[in-house]
Amino acid sequence: MNRKLIYFLPVFLSILSLVSLLNASANPHPSEVLAQKEPVVEPSTAPSPSPEPEFTGFCLQVPILMYHHIQPWSQAKAKWQTAFTVDSDTFDAHLAYLKSKGYTTISTSQLAQSLINHSSPPAKSIVITLDDGYQDAYTYALPILQKYQMHADFLIPTGLLNNPDYMSGDQLKAALSTGLISTINHTYSHTNLGAVNQEKISFEVLTAKKQLADIGQNTTIFGYPYGAVTATKFLQENDYIAALSTIQGQTQCDSFIMSLNRTRVGNSQLSAYGI
Ligand SMILES: [Zn+2]
Repeated sequence: MNRKLIYFLPVFLSILSLVSLLNASANPHPSEVLAQKEPVVEPSTAPSPSPEPEFTGFCLQVPILMYHHIQPWSQAKAKWQTAFTVDSDTFDAHLAYLKSKGYTTISTSQLAQSLINHSSPPAKSIVITLDDGYQDAYTYALPILQKYQMHADFLIPTGLLNNPDYMSGDQLKAALSTGLISTINHTYSHTNLGAVNQEKISFEVLTAKKQLADIGQNTTIFGYPYGAVTATKFLQENDYIAALSTIQGQTQCDSFIMSLNRTRVGNSQLSAYGI
């Protein structure tokens, strides 16, 4: 290689990477945009359970597992969704583990009723939640839930159904017909309710409420997009008795029933998340 080439090669490479960087930011892959919605930190090492604060009121130890995409890892890579994906074989292993450990899957609604009535849910109760109504919840997660006959709550932004990469309305209805799925209001367009005015909050919550009611889902549970716990009074005035945050924790109390804790699950074994 002659000296001139050696001199210019690093310059040329920097220009190349700059151009590709500009391209990437000017034209982000749609799923990259999605991937910024709920920044899930997926640690390569399992999270160590942090000490939980003092709790007040009537409390139950019921983990609420939070999943987003469930799909084969190769598909997640192709779609730039790895940060939000639990590999479908891993999800299968998670459910097999829950079964072997004697867990019973209940809905958030059942958990809420137990908190309100100060009653005990079945021993070793656990809630499985799948956020955002993605297509893969129907294609990959549902058959695995059926295999183990386990219940899951789907958090549905109703206005996103029928869009690319989301479930269709018919697929959601088919999922509901298995008797293993219930839905949770996750707004109409997955809006951060902490960043909009009351009129928009009302539209987002009540439109989704009506659309879920139209398919027979009179859910009284809400899930905050981006984990933005807000508008709790408005939610309670509109029949919502409990809501899901993205705050880490496995203790649930009636004193914070409008911001129940969840456990972010990644691709480690469930035992790594304190389950
Ligand atoms: Zn969401």
